[in-house]
Amino acid sequence: MAHAAGELTPNQAQVLGHLRQANAPLTAYQLLGRMQSDRGAVAPPTVYRALKGLEDAGLIRRIETLRAWAPVAAISPGVVVICDDCGTVRSMQAPDVVESLHLRLAAEGFAEARQTIEVHGRCGGCAEGQR
Ligand SMILES: [Zn+2]
Repeated sequence: MAHAAGELTPNQAQVLGHLRQANAPLTAYQLLGRMQSDRGAVAPPTVYRALKGLEDAGLIRRIETLRAWAPVAAISPGVVVICDDCGTVRSMQAPDVVESLHLRLAAEGFAEARQTIEVHGRCGGCAEGQR
């Protein structure tokens, strides 16, 4: 059952709070540790259920290449850009890229179930600091 934004369960609100406080994506294991230091024993399924609910509500997304989660509103379809120096994650609309990929796949008769395009590199701020 999907919860609309504003109707989060206490667990979802707590997980979302941690993700928003962190400057970089957090793994489920890191989230579990933070939840446990907040309030003692927390079972892993509690964290996974909260993550699933937040993802269904479109408030966070899984960064596949990091096996971690970030509070990035899912712009769908879009490209996720990850800075490997400071860990910031943002999603970027790239309709041309997505459209051309879609056309190529359709031409091969490939039925897309879901797709994730993630780009790793260095953000503008970090690149400037290196100069
Ligand atoms: Zn950066």
